[in-house]
Amino acid sequence: MENSSQASRDYTVCPGCDLLLERIPAASDHTAVCPRCGSRLYRARSDSVRKTLALSLTGLLLYVPANFTTLLTFDVLGTPSSTTLFASTLSMFAQGQFIVGTVVVLTGLVFPLLTLSLLFTVSLGLHLRRRIPCMPTMLRWYRHLTEWAMQDVYLIGVFVTIIKMSHMAAIEANTGLYCFIALVLITIASQSAIDFPLFWSRMEPDAPPPPPPPGVETAMEAGLMVCHTCRRIAAAGDGAEKVFCPRCGEQLHFRKPESVGRTWALVLTAVIFTLPANLLPIMEVEYMGVPDRSTIMDGIIYFFQEGSYGIGAIILTASILVPMFKILGLVLILLSIHFRRHGWLRHKAMMFRFIQFIGRWSMLDIFVIALLCALVRFGYLSTVNVAPAAFYFTGVVLATMFSAINFDPRLLWDDAVTPVAREYNYATARSS
Ligand SMILES: [Zn+2]
Ligand SMILES: [Zn+2]
Repeated sequence: MENSSQASRDYTVCPGCDLLLERIPAASDHTAVCPRCGSRLYRARSDSVRKTLALSLTGLLLYVPANFTTLLTFDVLGTPSSTTLFASTLSMFAQGQFIVGTVVVLTGLVFPLLTLSLLFTVSLGLHLRRRIPCMPTMLRWYRHLTEWAMQDVYLIGVFVTIIKMSHMAAIEANTGLYCFIALVLITIASQSAIDFPLFWSRMEPDAPPPPPPPGVETAMEAGLMVCHTCRRIAAAGDGAEKVFCPRCGEQLHFRKPESVGRTWALVLTAVIFTLPANLLPIMEVEYMGVPDRSTIMDGIIYFFQEGSYGIGAIILTASILVPMFKILGLVLILLSIHFRRHGWLRHKAMMFRFIQFIGRWSMLDIFVIALLCALVRFGYLSTVNVAPAAFYFTGVVLATMFSAINFDPRLLWDDAVTPVAREYNYATARSS
């Protein structure tokens, strides 16, 4: 009797800790979270397809004027200098910084366009109830690329640049800036309008997953794998062959392969890059033919001395505190897995989610330098050039972001079958 009633219950798997949970329908605009680790399970959004379609279309229409019309005009002693967002994005190449330049172009220009286009195509297909080929693949790529589309960080970079230059030049905001602000707001709205479970189930309905045997706690114990992209649950098979998600095509694993080793390697890379990133100069300001090179810390001290405490605090947080927190946090998590310390699990899981969330914001300083290189072109009077630390600093950002991507938070919970966890077996997902 108990078996059949359990089989008929619809369940889901927590992506953060692998716990099997009964699925309850989340009320519109409510979020269901895992009662054990606090990860978000699903979020219901009202009228999601139409809203997403309208917002992504608006975003695409704004993309061209935001990138190709004049963004800002600086005026020093009657010498104007203006730039578009597009030209600023490319400015690192003119400085001979090909790797940093590629990262800036991808995160500031290519991925924002790509994510909007993917979202538009998928929501259009769902709205018209047409099966556009590769729709699940497109939505899968959208999920992977949103973290790397950094137009919001770029916009904060524009504001920092304006404040940074306001002492030295008369600044005029142009059409491009207003379109860019609108583009960023629309993009954020489109990301929050999308109801992923709805989108996925419209493409291919959730097949009723095979019933887990009674008494098991996690998907792995039940021989089930959960897709981290579309959350479909699939049987693991005999383990001899690779398993791919039947809906979106993502490769499935019980746990990400060699997660701990890869995360360690990437964290250590970040640590090594941190030294030159902070000790070498990151920017060179040439004033009246005299070059003045400054490190990240010099730039922060300058703001505090000038009395711009807010902007100094923003740069300090993004460039020094965030990378440091990411590295220390990941080391702490990795060590606690190595030494099998199971205390504070919920806090560690929360810290990991925070590390994932803040990862991209360290790119702020790189965007500011790209903007300054494009804008401060007053010939002999003053120019800004990028200096070697920019390369190492970009390395730190990439290494820490990839280390968070390679880490599997479920490893934290694996050996820790505490009596507390038993309470949550098939517990109802909390809706908030
Ligand atoms: Zn969980
Ligand atoms: Zn999938």
